[in-house]
Amino acid sequence: SLFRHARFEISIARPQDLPPPDGAEIAFAGRSNAGKSSAINTLVGHTRLAFVSKTPGRTQLINIFRMNNGAALVDLPGYGYAQVPEAVRKQWVRLLENYLTRRTNLIGLILIMDSRHPLTPLDQQMLDWFAPSGRPIHVMLTKSDKLTRSASAQTLTLVKNRLPKWQVRPGQISVQLFSSLKKAGIEEAESAVEGWMAP
Ligand code: GDP
Repeated sequence: SLFRHARFEISIARPQDLPPPDGAEIAFAGRSNAGKSSAINTLVGHTRLAFVSKTPGRTQLINIFRMNNGAALVDLPGYGYAQVPEAVRKQWVRLLENYLTRRTNLIGLILIMDSRHPLTPLDQQMLDWFAPSGRPIHVMLTKSDKLTRSASAQTLTLVKNRLPKWQVRPGQISVQLFSSLKKAGIEEAESAVEGWMAP
């Protein structure tokens, strides 16, 4: 299993402090409170590693995890938290734009969305920046346990129907339901990302 043996490597405050772009990177992005930290914890199988922060107003760090195969998981700052001053929010979004559009060793993006509020304007902004690269994107609709079976199926269909707008090649963007609470969807996430790795 790809994620299970990922180990926390470092937290950095500024993108300038990222390690040199040599190993492959897979980034996790999402709206603040969408469930990104919980999803990473669930995938990695530790609770100690990605900190589930209850104070999203704090300086946000980029957390890097290293997988057995040498590739890194890069946990990007959550965006859109309303209680943060506008200037700070803009700075985070600029950071994300730079990283998503310029990082040469970024092989794919995992976009975390709350299944009850998918495709917010900032989620769409992330797609606008990254999808033109042609690199793969996997959307995880989290907290699916909060929806009924039929409501979550409806959300999945709705999101699937909207994503082709960003695809520059067939199969570039995939989407799944996920629940950290129920630990549901781990294998689907893993097989999506395994497909991004060179054999
Ligand atoms: P982040 O800001 O995107 O990293 O979000 P967190 O992982 O900190 O989660 C935000 C809140 O949603 C926390 O209260 C979590 O306990 C809750 N949460 C996260 N994932 C799930 C899930 O799959 N199911 C349920 N029911 N709650 C979740």
